[in-house]
Order: sequence, then C-alpha cells, then structure tokens
Amino acid sequence: MKRIYLDHNATTRLDPRVAAVMEPLLRDFLGNPSSPHAEGRRARRIVEDARESVARFLGVEPRGVVFTSGATEANNLAVRGAFPGAEALRRGVAVTAVEHPSVLRSAEFLRESGAPVRVMGVDPAGRLLPEALEAALAEEPALVCVMAANNEVGTLQPVAAVAAGAAARGIRWHVDAVQMAGRLPLAMPPFPLGSLAISGHKIGGPKGVGALAADPGAPPSPLILGGSQERDRRAGTENVPAIAGFGEACRLAAEETGARGARLRDLEAAFLGALRERGADFRVHGPSCPREKLPGTLSIRLPGVRGEVLIMGLDLAGVAVSLGNACSSGAVLPSHVLSAMGVNKVESLETIRVSFGVRQTEEEAVDAASRIAAFVRAQVAV
Ligand code: PMP
Repeated sequence: MKRIYLDHNATTRLDPRVAAVMEPLLRDFLGNPSSPHAEGRRARRIVEDARESVARFLGVEPRGVVFTSGATEANNLAVRGAFPGAEALRRGVAVTAVEHPSVLRSAEFLRESGAPVRVMGVDPAGRLLPEALEAALAEEPALVCVMAANNEVGTLQPVAAVAAGAAARGIRWHVDAVQMAGRLPLAMPPFPLGSLAISGHKIGGPKGVGALAADPGAPPSPLILGGSQERDRRAGTENVPAIAGFGEACRLAAEETGARGARLRDLEAAFLGALRERGADFRVHGPSCPREKLPGTLSIRLPGVRGEVLIMGLDLAGVAVSLGNACSSGAVLPSHVLSAMGVNKVESLETIRVSFGVRQTEEEAVDAASRIAAFVRAQVAV
C-alpha cells in the first residue's frame, strides 16, 4: 500500500534541488570557515552566500542573520538572549498562550530567574485577543513574542501590527515564523528591535539548521559560548553543508511562496471535500475562513475516536498524521493550543493534525480522506 505522509508541519522531505547543492559539499573537503587559508575561505564564502539567501528571503540585512541548530535554538536565543540585563529582567516578557514550547519554556526559564511573564490569551479560533495584547504592551515588557502561524491549527496572528505596536513603544518583538515561511509571504515592518526565527527542515531544507534574524543594532546575547563564530552570537564551527542547503531552501522558498500556498490550499480543499463526501463526522478547529489560516494545516476532531488510536490505526492504514503537536507526542496530554482556544479535554484528545506538502497530489489527498473516513467508520461501529 502506498504511504501518504500528511505530517509536513513536523518535517518536510528534502527538496531534490537542495540535496543537489548539499551532496558535493558533503563529499568535498571543506575547510573550517574560521581558517584564513584557501580551504577555509571557500567554506566561509559558502556560509556567507547562504546568509545572503536567508536575509533576502526574510527581507533583513545579512549582518543580522545568526545560523543556529534550528528554530528551537533560534527561539531560545531570541527570548533568553534578549535578557542580559537587570532592566530587562525587571520588565519581563509577554508571550501568546499558543507559542511553540521552545518559546513558552524559554519564558518559563526567565520566570524562574525572576522576570515577570505575561501570557496573552487567544479567542476560540486561536487569534491573539487585541485586549490581551494591549494590556501586555501597556506594561512595557522588554520583549513580546507572537508566532506568525500556529503549527497545530494554522491560525495566523497579526504579527506585522504587533511588531509595529511594540517597536513604537520601544519594546522588542520576536516572531516565530517557522510555519509561515515559504507558505505565505512574511510582510514584517522594518527591523529595529525585532527578530524572526525560521527552520530549514520545514521548508524543504535539511534538519538541524535554522536561523534567527535579528536587528544587527540590538543583537541577542549568545547562549552558546566559546568561539567568535556568527559575530560572537553563537559559538561553534558552522555546519557548512547544512547551511548551504538551508540557503538554497530559502532561495527557492522566496521564489515559490505564492505557488506553494496556492497548492497547499487546493490540497486542503480536495481533502476536506472528500472527507465530507464520504460522510465522515468531523470538526475543524481554528479559523473557518481559509484566508485567515495557514494553507495546508488542519486540526481535525473526529468525535468518538481518541487521537492516539487514530494515529496508530491510520499509520497501519498507510497514512502518517500527528497528534496536535508532534513535539510533545509520546505523552498524551491535551494540546496547550487547543486548551487556550477553549477546547475541552475530551475534544482535544479526539483531535489530529493533518498537514500537506507542496509535492503532493490531489489524488493523494482524496485517497487519505477515504482511508481516514473508512477507519473512523470502523472505529465508531465497534
Ligand atoms: N516553532 C514552531 C512553530 C515549530 O512548528 C517548530 C517545529 N516543531 C519549531 C519552532 C522548532 O523548530 P526546529 O525543529 O527547527 O527546532
């Protein structure tokens, strides 16, 4: 049976064009980018070319781009690295309740160090409540963190307005753009006081590489010490082939974002249409209007069937989907995102996440919907 992978928010397949860039670099001898000889200079040039691609994709200055091991590290660097001083610790941080755990846990870490942390609530569709944002900004925290698109339900946040509002008050802002990148255009205001996190493996690049793009005038203080790489913001010898692949993935994403978003929207529509046609009983969490959400991400409740039963049964039926959040699977707890949206525990535990990839076909989407509908029918009949 042909497998259908519907977990692209967890990770995407390496784009063959990215693999073509990386392959020779994995075989060739590359020097250390910090070395002054020809081998080192060649490695340095590869890293700096990739930095330019990332910067162009994000609309920032190359000097502000820090390569990291992924977006988990980039989020840690943005949040914990924004707090070098007593003043910042006094002012604290505001985060939405639906952030990725790498942001929430970093904020928790600051709370343990004595910083006030305000968690901003969301509405039933997962959108940041304007009054929660206003109350948070009025307290003048050192940093406000709002993700661009949620990884579980796909809700979009008004990040450009949040960033502009924060910067106008002299507050730093951080946007986790991991899921939005390459699927919808990122239109951020000019960068003073801001930062953005993205990840290679969510956009057809390799795993284990990402970036924090920060205002070069207000760089984060490093979390990893012991070397002057990345302008002293992240010590350690660079993973040159991965960085080159990430640069190529960003270059392609910059060219193809519009087409990818449209493709994902079509796949999602084909899937939902087929699920309805086959009489499945289901509810979609998050915004009802496709324009208000990330294309290709669906958080679906199938009443009467537990999520972990679905995941395992569908895996046997050749369909890979995830529980609300792949990063916390293993432990079956209600998703913090759905809880923040007011979804109760039972409903939350009956929810799966389906996320499409740009290379998939409508036939695959329809086939997956058939397999899901058949599995649910069999379960509910038991
Ligand atoms: N932020 C969001 C919104 C994500 O979906 C993820 C990946 N689950 C991350 C951050 C972490 O990215 P990485 O896998 O590169 O550490």
